[in-house]
Amino acid sequence: MVKKTVFRGIFLAYLCAMEILDGKLVSQAVKNDLKNKVAAAISTGGKKPHLAAILVGNNGASGTYVASKVKSCEEVGFTSTLVRLEENISEKELLNCIEVLNNDDDVDGILVQLPLPKHISEQKVIESVSPDKDVDGFHPETVGRMVQGLPAYFPATPYGILLLLEHYQIETKGKHAVIIGRSNIVGRPISILLNRNAYPGNCTVTVCHSHTGNLKEICLQGDIIVAALGRPEFLKADMVKDGAVIIDVGITRVKDESKKSGFSIKGDVAFNEVSAKASFITPVPGGVGPMTIAALLMNTFKASQLRSARVSVH
Ligand code: NAP
Repeated sequence: MVKKTVFRGIFLAYLCAMEILDGKLVSQAVKNDLKNKVAAAISTGGKKPHLAAILVGNNGASGTYVASKVKSCEEVGFTSTLVRLEENISEKELLNCIEVLNNDDDVDGILVQLPLPKHISEQKVIESVSPDKDVDGFHPETVGRMVQGLPAYFPATPYGILLLLEHYQIETKGKHAVIIGRSNIVGRPISILLNRNAYPGNCTVTVCHSHTGNLKEICLQGDIIVAALGRPEFLKADMVKDGAVIIDVGITRVKDESKKSGFSIKGDVAFNEVSAKASFITPVPGGVGPMTIAALLMNTFKASQLRSARVSVH
């Protein structure tokens, strides 16, 4: 009986040691800070940072993401412009629209919400955004600079993850970070950033993808695991070692009759079972998602400051 109670006590103490990485809270702190900085800049004659977002077509999820980015701009005192274009707009017309924003002296940052309709080359669009206004951090020039450790706009989601690790002062030096996913917007850039010689960084990084043979064994070695593959509840407790830091990037809409909307949002991590083993873990929603927006605002503010000082990030 005594043994049972002691075991239960240790078990509960262990559970209590797990900490949620609260993206809502941290993103609000970032926004509050930015709001003060914007107000201070304006009070000394500066201009409001200006983010221009382009939304093509009627993709429901994309519409929701852009709306929350625009709303966040308003919250911190930025100017925002939302350019809505029809699904059947030609690639040339979209490129012309980006060119107009590139040449608009009041616009500091440009984002084109992805994915785009199939008849438009995303790569061409990404490359058409001026690197100085590339607050999404997707332009090859921006990525190249980031890889070489030069000043650059980091892509929003990986940057948001860094801000979260930093806020909770999570030690990353010498840790083994396992990244599941190698996309240009999440997996690959976070692998580079966690590997850089800075904090958060200095990890030894393993990047996994759909052809990785021994994924479970690799994950079990991860001190930090970033799950960014887009497979709901893929990462299970038996793939995670005790005390690991778990960053769940996944956002998938799954059918859910119990919800008014008819769907619920699932991450790539089986939260209930994995959280019992993790030291820190992001929830979905409320983890990486809000941090992505906070990071985009940080990049836009930086772009605005650099443009005001007539200095290029490059
Ligand atoms: P993506 O472009 O589809 O890339 C997915 C990656 O996961 C690919 O590299 C793929 O490997 C790999 N993968 C797929 N199945 C796998 C498996 N069974 N085992 C190992 N690797 C596997 O996705 P993404 O754009 O990076 O997004 C990933 C998830 O994050 C999605 O749910 C997305 O909605 C979400 N997301 C969230 C935010 C946020 O703000 N929270 C931002 C961006 C994305 P291959 O390269 O071999 O195909």
